[in-house]
Amino acid sequence: ALPSMPALQKAFHKPSSKPAVFIPVDRSPEIQEARLKLPILAEEQVIMEAINENPVVIICGETGSGKTTQVPQFLYEAGYASSDGIIGITEPRRVAAVSMSHRVAKEMNVSHRVVSYQIRYEGNVTDETKIKFMTDGVLLKEIQKDFLLLKYKVIIIDEAHERSVYTDILIGLLSRIVPLRGKKEQPMKLIIMSATLRVEDFTDNKKLFPAVPPAIQVDARQFPVTVHFNKRTPVDDYNGECFRKVCKIHRMLPAGGILVFLTGQAEVHSLCRRLRKAFPFRKNETEGGEEKEESVEETRKFKKSKQKKTMPLPKIDLNSYSVLPVDEGDEDREAEMDDDEDAVGSDMDLDLGDDGLEEGKKSDSSLPLYVLPLYSLLAPEKQAKVFRPPPLGTRLCVVATNVAETSLTIPSIKYVVDCGKVKKRFYDKVTGVSSFRVTWTSQASANQRAGRAGRTEPGHCYRLYSSAVFSDFEKFSPPEITRRPVEDLILQMKALNIEKVINFPFPTPPRTEALAAAEELLIALGALKEPLKTGRLKELQIAKLSSPISPLGITMASFPVAPRYAKMLALSKQHDCLPYAITIVSAMTVREFFEEFERPAVSEEETEKLKGKKARVIQMRRIWAGQGPFQKLGDLMVMLGAVGACEYAGCTPKFCEANGLRYKAMLEIRRLRGQLTTAVNSVCPDAGLFVDPKMKPPTETQVTYLRQIVLAGLGDHIARRIQAEELLDEKWKNAYKTPLLDDPVFIHPNSVLFKQLPEFVVYQEIVETTQMYMKDRVGWQLPAVEVDYPEGIDRYKYFAKFLLEGEIIKQLGSYKRCLLSSPLTMLKT
Ligand code: ADP
Ligand code: MG
Repeated sequence: ALPSMPALQKAFHKPSSKPAVFIPVDRSPEIQEARLKLPILAEEQVIMEAINENPVVIICGETGSGKTTQVPQFLYEAGYASSDGIIGITEPRRVAAVSMSHRVAKEMNVSHRVVSYQIRYEGNVTDETKIKFMTDGVLLKEIQKDFLLLKYKVIIIDEAHERSVYTDILIGLLSRIVPLRGKKEQPMKLIIMSATLRVEDFTDNKKLFPAVPPAIQVDARQFPVTVHFNKRTPVDDYNGECFRKVCKIHRMLPAGGILVFLTGQAEVHSLCRRLRKAFPFRKNETEGGEEKEESVEETRKFKKSKQKKTMPLPKIDLNSYSVLPVDEGDEDREAEMDDDEDAVGSDMDLDLGDDGLEEGKKSDSSLPLYVLPLYSLLAPEKQAKVFRPPPLGTRLCVVATNVAETSLTIPSIKYVVDCGKVKKRFYDKVTGVSSFRVTWTSQASANQRAGRAGRTEPGHCYRLYSSAVFSDFEKFSPPEITRRPVEDLILQMKALNIEKVINFPFPTPPRTEALAAAEELLIALGALKEPLKTGRLKELQIAKLSSPISPLGITMASFPVAPRYAKMLALSKQHDCLPYAITIVSAMTVREFFEEFERPAVSEEETEKLKGKKARVIQMRRIWAGQGPFQKLGDLMVMLGAVGACEYAGCTPKFCEANGLRYKAMLEIRRLRGQLTTAVNSVCPDAGLFVDPKMKPPTETQVTYLRQIVLAGLGDHIARRIQAEELLDEKWKNAYKTPLLDDPVFIHPNSVLFKQLPEFVVYQEIVETTQMYMKDRVGWQLPAVEVDYPEGIDRYKYFAKFLLEGEIIKQLGSYKRCLLSSPLTMLKT
């Protein structure tokens, strides 16, 4: 056999500082041929020389140029993976870590024992592993165990342009680890890979890298993509618009794969179902016998589960949950939208007037459409399907979330349909609690999406919005770290003994206010040691930003939830409250627990149906809310009741549907309960917890404790009803005041406390709609306590503190004792 191209290159050129090692790789001729077409192959020599001569190298190249699949192979061939260290690559998304490890193993013709992956829940790393793909959260966790990352010779940070918070933190940490390794004579290389050229935050940042790292640009081979904007004003129903557009493309335009960008998993499934219904794809139409048509099977399963009267009780298998104390993936908790299946318009608008489709010739509309979903949480074997050629005589249509934007390259896509939206996590500036919202994406990512159409031949991108709207998009999305509260990151960093977070070399630092707010909250939660109150105010302020972690903080850092919820877990050992606290925390962290009813009905019949269902759901919520003292747990009792009832009924889609619960949320809660239980058990082996899906309702004492436990995490989220004598305006009759906001807030109509209007409530978050609502599900009642406000003290803050201490003092003797007793007993191992 002929030596490979790189082998030839190496024979003629010897990099100066590194002996010419060459580890042969036995690639198949087809793979070899495909590789040689990748633009990055032409740059191998330049890249390897830069890596050999510099500790840190940046590589920029368009999506599809070969960065992720080829750079690890270059390094492997150059001998960077040896007995004393391997090659590690981080990805912000699980789906990329898994599928890229498969792809590279295949290209190198080796098993998964050699090219492996590790994500939060699973992995296939072995002693033989030489190349390891992982999520950035996994590597961050490894740094906590081995700060110098001695088992790696090279770390590649992939998709750095996404600027996910963990990527940013990793780059900051690695900027310190690399020189330390150099000093120890165990040098390590850091390679940062980005799909855009916007890398100044890494190169022009003396604090991060005092010596400017070389940035190598790989020229992409890209075919022209014609962009068609919608001329109509943007539609709200972009799901329906996507459906119509795909139908038109499929009916009218010549062969070529279609890639649709939507914002979330539920939308992806909904569109897949609609498309499969519109263009049925039967098994016998293809020769691909192994292709058991999943869509048909799925539908059948779905129908079956709807019909079946009784289902066996599902079991939670604790061994299947792994523990990882970092909450590494947003997708996990992703909000999902209601499926809009019933809104299918069979009389599609085929008017091609203004969307650029008229250029196409009429093609054979009987051609089956091979529809595949693609999103982060999809099982890996299903994800892999998008890379295989579609069955003969079909057209491939991939319906994807953002994952297809840069991390994955799907072959033979000619048409891109871009809804223009993205689901993003937003954080309330005041309360700091997050929510998922669908917004317009940025120009940079819209262009990335369009680029997906021109990989193999000239393509077309259909944007479901006008060019005027596009020009209003932000140019780039700002790095995540500047958009969100950082208390979870700060806690993780303090757990790494980085005390002066203000000095940390962030690629883009968070705002100082955000850092200060995080530090303050963590001190209030007891996760950081109280600063010594000496010196002037300014010094105190600085001291505040460098408080060391407390033992409670170490416990909290090991739970895979935000610090507020970690605090609740850490306090829950008394009175067997842990299983309930775990359930409450899981339910609070999973978004959209209840199904949304306030959607517009499509027909009169549906209006009636919705009305009936709503009445039933309201009744069920009232039942779950309990009687007497149980009511004081408010919406949390509803959650406990709903989870309990659902598990007793076997957690079936049918039960959820009938009671207005979101089936997927209930499954997610179950998974989180398992995971949190494992986490608690590993911190506190004597807790010996196990998850009984069918949890008994709490006792009255437990309810009292649970209220305090939740208050301990949300002590600053207290609202007090505006009193008659304070009332300036009738419209604020039912309003509440909070210490954090000037404007009055209201209890959400969906809350069980909506009519009760207790004097004091604690809330999870405030959502701004027409009026400020306290998010429905987590307001709850506290006993009113008479207090005299001392002069000059913020009465609400004072009140919160008083309540917190008063309540717990009553039960336990002292708040401090409560703090000390539970987490410290848990820690003593
Ligand atoms: P980059 O990281 O620069 O975006 P990649 O290394 O991911 O590029 O991809 C390089 C090429 O490899 C792509 O053009 C794609 O066609 C091909 N490729 C990647 N993954 C697969 C796969 N699983 N199956 C077939 N081809 C793949
Ligand atoms: Mg890549």
